[in-house]
Amino acid sequence: MAGTKGTTGSSGSVRKYLTGIFLVVGLIVLSVFWGFNYKASSLIKEQLRRQGHAFYQEVVLTRDWAAGHGGVYVALTPGMEVNPFLSRIPGVKAVIEDREGNRYTLKNPALITREISELAASKGLFQFRITSLKPLNPANKPDAFERAALERFEQGTAEYSIYEQQGNQVLYRYMAPLITTKACLKCHADQGYREGDVRGGISVTITATDMMRQLSENRTFLVCSAFGIIFLIFAIIRFISRAFIKELKVAEQKLVEMASLDFLTGLLNRRELFNRLQVEVSRSRRRLKPLSVILIDIDHFKRFNDTYGHHAGDVVLKEVSRTLSCALRDYDILSRYGGEEFLVVAPETGLRQAEELAERLRVKVMEQPIVYESQALPVTCTISSGVAQMLDAEAVEKTISRADEALYRAKAAGRNRVETAPAEPVPHGEAAGAPPQMVPRQS
Ligand code: GH3
Ligand code: MG
Ligand code: MG
Repeated sequence: MAGTKGTTGSSGSVRKYLTGIFLVVGLIVLSVFWGFNYKASSLIKEQLRRQGHAFYQEVVLTRDWAAGHGGVYVALTPGMEVNPFLSRIPGVKAVIEDREGNRYTLKNPALITREISELAASKGLFQFRITSLKPLNPANKPDAFERAALERFEQGTAEYSIYEQQGNQVLYRYMAPLITTKACLKCHADQGYREGDVRGGISVTITATDMMRQLSENRTFLVCSAFGIIFLIFAIIRFISRAFIKELKVAEQKLVEMASLDFLTGLLNRRELFNRLQVEVSRSRRRLKPLSVILIDIDHFKRFNDTYGHHAGDVVLKEVSRTLSCALRDYDILSRYGGEEFLVVAPETGLRQAEELAERLRVKVMEQPIVYESQALPVTCTISSGVAQMLDAEAVEKTISRADEALYRAKAAGRNRVETAPAEPVPHGEAAGAPPQMVPRQS
């Protein structure tokens, strides 16, 4: 029981540690992939911003060039628009005529910008618009995004951008301010602008659908990779932990066995014997059943060792152990009690029955030939036994001590025999059998 509990505890701890490691590694993997995703999306957004800013600068350059020349006159062709707002500006001629009668109309910077914008839009390129919070032309009125941007520019913001969903298209909208120059004041002074003022802004609209799709595909790829790696780590940790726990259980089982079994014979050792004995004693007391013990000692074992060597003695100990355990009943407990001594605990067994059992064991051992290095030795091994039944309210150690006294008598009576301890303990030395001084026991 104790062994099983220990094993479960260790595997539980191993599982706990491995789960902890898995969670930490999982978090690290997730944060690394989140970092990749964040970096990729920042790069794409920065790329869009730069693109928006580059378009804005191109428009500003074109516009500055046109403003520097006070606008550009172009040949007035049929259907061409003449800017109606120019007539409101003193000193500015919307249409001029040369000596040959050819007519030209003034394309002022705002008009040039709008016409280039319309041209770009008609070619499916980016779109841009010049807007102002106080537009001269109502067509240049800002939309919600442009208004928000213009209000920010007045607070000092240098640029503003958003993503806008239009149907299934994602638009990137970028806007930066237009600063009033001297050339602008010629037409816009009556609007109250001064040099350096924010007089409006240029908004650029770029289709970002492809980039957003790439971003989303990238995100899907990263999420799948992250979970794939986490699953792989989980599978590896699970595989390792299973193999590790299996080995741990085997090692722990071995430890338990080493702690409870005798190394040479594989029988229970003395420590484990007393554990089991406690259980059997309380069970027999609870059920009011008898319990007997048989103390067994190999006869003249020292002589055997001296004659055939210690290794041969070990072989005999193993053989006797095997013979005894084969001859016992399933519920009897056999242990190596000392050097060449064994103790049998016989539950639900009275003194007479135990004596019969001891006698059966004695005969079995005696009949067993001693084989050493594939050769049968010309000697037989015999055992002497002392049998005692546990008395009411008697400590089991006392029962064993009475069995030892009976064994003492068996030795004294010539060995290879079974002696029983009387039901009532008798004073030491008065037990039946030969006097102790004849064959002194040395164990
Ligand atoms: P008796 O019939 O009176 O029991 O005589 P004995 O020789 O068996 O008893 P004694 O106590 O004099 O000797 C016991 C011997 O058992 C001495 C010791 O060397 C031997 N012995 C104890 N443990 C082992 C072991 O693990 N292997 C071997 N080979 N011998 C052991
Ligand atoms: Mg002996
Ligand atoms: Mg002995």
